[in-house]
Amino acid sequence: MQKISLFSNTCSSYIAHLTALLGKGPQHAGIVYESFFRTGVPPQDHPAFKNASVLLQAILENTEFSLPTWRLVPCDEKTRKLIVRFHDSLEVESVLIPMQRGGTLCISSQIGCRMGCTFCETGRMGLLRNLTVEEIVAQVFIARHMVGFDFRNVVFMGMGEPFDNYVAVLQAARVLMDARGFGFGRRKVTISTSGSVEGIRQYTQEPDAPNLAVSINASMDSQRNRLMPVNRKHDMAELYGAMKDYCTKTGRQILAAYVLLKGVNDTLEDADRLADYLRGLDVKINLIPYNPQSRDRFAPPETEVVEAFGERLRAHGHETLFRRTKGRPIMAGCGQLGNITLRKKLLAERTI
Ligand code: SF4
Repeated sequence: MQKISLFSNTCSSYIAHLTALLGKGPQHAGIVYESFFRTGVPPQDHPAFKNASVLLQAILENTEFSLPTWRLVPCDEKTRKLIVRFHDSLEVESVLIPMQRGGTLCISSQIGCRMGCTFCETGRMGLLRNLTVEEIVAQVFIARHMVGFDFRNVVFMGMGEPFDNYVAVLQAARVLMDARGFGFGRRKVTISTSGSVEGIRQYTQEPDAPNLAVSINASMDSQRNRLMPVNRKHDMAELYGAMKDYCTKTGRQILAAYVLLKGVNDTLEDADRLADYLRGLDVKINLIPYNPQSRDRFAPPETEVVEAFGERLRAHGHETLFRRTKGRPIMAGCGQLGNITLRKKLLAERTI
């Protein structure tokens, strides 16, 4: 008989499925759900099960909650990489980033990515497959309950383009935000897209969706075409239109990510063009100095260049964030997630 998946359901859908299966126990199923997500284990000595141990057994027997295998890659800094291995031996990476006011967990939505951004390690892997809802939520469950990492924010900025796996990512976000589960607030979860115009337009229609981040990374089309092939399909004007609609219809702010690449998109003229481009949108600009990768084609900008770039944006009236790069020693910074061993294996298979 098909078991009910814990990780792919919100509490209400889990209760509905289990009750339909067992013919009883909505209250008890809810307690089991809450206990798993909040403590990592089934309820221990809960008064509701004092005279209902058989029901608890039935609920657990009909609940699928197995976890994939995982390992941590330690680092000199406090940042760590979590590598999760699934039934088909494919792996994804999440990054655990401690911060002063609660940490951030960066999770993956796909194994590999088909968007092909030229500065991104994952983009060089190509897309192997989408993650399921369970596989996305399992990354969060492992980080919290197995690793014991203390984090308040979850960002879909790891491997993959989240809107390329739209349905599973949105359902995973609902599970993460369920008040009877992990209970992340809407503003504590961020879905980041490389600029999928269709995805942003669809996302604009979602009630109660979490935060949106969009990777801009260029100040004009010719530059963005080279860095992000998605721009050849939907140029910056189209992207602007989708972002404008999003801000207007939802009343919400967009986090505009900008990876600074030395000598490519980091001049003050770029800052001026970027400021003009984003004018009229409710955005906060997240400046991210490029992280060196295994086969360096780009270089990181000097810190002073990043600061001057941010200063220029602020002079234009834009709010900016400058995140100090973390995780360089383990290739866990932005755009560096990619399983090098796996990629080599794939490349070998493709050339056979
Ligand atoms: S930056 Fe994001 S969308 Fe672009 S290739 Fe990398 S993972 Fe994919």
